[in-house]
Amino acid sequence: MTYDIVIKNGTVIDPSQGLHAKRDVAIAGGRIAAVAEHIPDKDAHDVIEAHGLLVTPGLVDLHVHVWWGVAHLAVEADPSCLARGATTVVDAGSSGSNTIAGFHRYVMDQVDTRVLAFLNISGMGQLDRDIGELQDFRWARVGNAVEAARLHADRIVGIKVRLTDVIAGENDVSALERSIDAAAQISKPVMIHIGKSVHPLEKLLPLLRPRDIVTHSFTGLPHGILDNTGKVIDVARDARSRGVIFDVGHGAGSFAFETAEKAMADGFLPGTVSSDVHRYNIRGPVYDLLTTLSKYLHMGLALDEVIALGTTKPAAALGRSSGSGKPWSEVTGTLKVGAEADVAVIELREGPVTFTDSLGKTRQGSKHMLPVVTLKGGRRASPLHSAHPHLHGHGH
Ligand SMILES: [Zn+2]
Repeated sequence: MTYDIVIKNGTVIDPSQGLHAKRDVAIAGGRIAAVAEHIPDKDAHDVIEAHGLLVTPGLVDLHVHVWWGVAHLAVEADPSCLARGATTVVDAGSSGSNTIAGFHRYVMDQVDTRVLAFLNISGMGQLDRDIGELQDFRWARVGNAVEAARLHADRIVGIKVRLTDVIAGENDVSALERSIDAAAQISKPVMIHIGKSVHPLEKLLPLLRPRDIVTHSFTGLPHGILDNTGKVIDVARDARSRGVIFDVGHGAGSFAFETAEKAMADGFLPGTVSSDVHRYNIRGPVYDLLTTLSKYLHMGLALDEVIALGTTKPAAALGRSSGSGKPWSEVTGTLKVGAEADVAVIELREGPVTFTDSLGKTRQGSKHMLPVVTLKGGRRASPLHSAHPHLHGHGH
């Protein structure tokens, strides 16, 4: 057998098959063809030497913004996500029913990153930084969202709604009700953005159904998941126990180390870790998904667990894991033989690193995961730089 590429001598971590071992990974025809202890060089057209590096399934980022040129906050998918390890990303609300056709044709169909989307319940999506998409509540039209989600069913994975006071105001509960109505009609989850809503989570979380997703779960803003003694509130525990997924969605304003650490101390870990990477945080404090995952490594989670939070867990949240019964063309977050060759080759760099949260609070870390090369369907993308200059204290 001759393979197109063999990734040699790396430490393969694939939570979808409980694998953490030195392995070679062979790729042929854009798919994973073999994972074995030794695959000879002579069997490969091309070799990627991964000695001392991690080899994982391509990362799955459940919350990004990549409707570039239209959504005010968006970044370009390929350099911002794919080249930095994330082969499948979910745009969380940049597009709504008024703009999804363009997003599909001019971004999803053009870029190498696999781009899926939560459709914003607001038809305008996130067009503007100053004018919130639900300030005029007429934008929240259930019928339009359902029609658009059905037309673009191959890419739409659910409905997004942002419930912050400056976006939804007093309409937060009604906006959530409309979103759940639309999501129920297309049999997909809602993703809600929390933090500084007019109404407390006691009015919002009880409406969520199993498999619905809360993003910005560890926000430091008012109406978060902690009470004033630093314990996780009952409605959040109840929601989690009935299958609601609590996602990180770091973003520019929505991840506080203090919240995440107190929640963790109270036994409340994230269900998935996503970056919410966008124009206002890509030069810090988010940078990329690997840096967000590295923060959880710093907070004490095991490496395998951290990799799962950025691969198998988000894949399962999307119903696209290797055990989902979906065809290989839809499956993500696995290096099983037969899957699309979506692979992240990662350096786990040891040395001092300063991690910053959305409040500007810092933690001194000693390990940082950095992208080396990513493969999407067996084709390579390399980052412009591994660590952003700001992380080394340069480039201000
Ligand atoms: Zn976002």
